[in-house]
Amino acid sequence: MPELPEVETVKRTLNTLIADKTIESVDVLLPRIIQKPQDPDLFAALLQGQTIHVVERRGKFLRFILDDYVMVSHLRMEGRYGLYSSEEQLELHTHVVFHFTDGTDLRYKDVRQFGTMHLFPQGQDLTQPPLGKLGIEPLDESFTFAAFRERIAKRTTKIKPLLLNQEYIVGIGNIYVDESLFLAGIHPEREADTLSRPELQKLHAAIIQTLQDSVEAGGSSIKSYVNGQGEIGLFQHQLKIYGRKAESCYQCGAEIQKTVVGGRGTHFCPECQPLKRTRKTKKSKE
Ligand SMILES: [Zn+2]
Repeated sequence: MPELPEVETVKRTLNTLIADKTIESVDVLLPRIIQKPQDPDLFAALLQGQTIHVVERRGKFLRFILDDYVMVSHLRMEGRYGLYSSEEQLELHTHVVFHFTDGTDLRYKDVRQFGTMHLFPQGQDLTQPPLGKLGIEPLDESFTFAAFRERIAKRTTKIKPLLLNQEYIVGIGNIYVDESLFLAGIHPEREADTLSRPELQKLHAAIIQTLQDSVEAGGSSIKSYVNGQGEIGLFQHQLKIYGRKAESCYQCGAEIQKTVVGGRGTHFCPECQPLKRTRKTKKSKE
């Protein structure tokens, strides 16, 4: 599944490919991709004549800013955008085609068909589902240490599921949570309120560094993630902990462990990320 760095890469690529293009018509070949409005013909009609000014990102959602509307798109498991000449034959699994006035198409392909598109009048998309309840952006200036600490420090739940909760912080998925916790030397099952201030500071810095590094490297995914220009992401070669079960830790040489935390496959180094017990009384739910 694409994570925040991949979606950021897709956003940047789309801006170089389709900014200022005007939509002539839209073909919806798989109606269930279109979540709002419910009528795909209305979706197509509303987009006719609209110019795409810029593509932005909120969490793992893309926001296409048009003249009068904002189109919110989530790639989910396998969704991809590509720019084609209108004359090129449609590839398999192409579900939505945006025909531009300049003879090119933006085509949305999705083998798994889990992707979604919502169309909102300008100014209404950020206050209602699916974007309405999303948490703070980890690559935004507003993600200060104080803002991070306020969200995390008093919670009694395990740190990993908390970091995955999109209502607290958006866009750090399973891979980058494992990488960030490794970089900060924090066991994924530590309860958030047992983390010291220095540990929280390390974790805050590790989240930003992990995401920035991967955005710079073009995003990654364990599967064959391909960005908008058909280039495969490179960051997967730089993963230090995720997907390295039973291999040696780069830092200490210990064997990397894999476990399940909050229902998600989780990689950690037992030496670099010890499970400290700093509370005097154990929580009853353990
Ligand atoms: Zn280690």
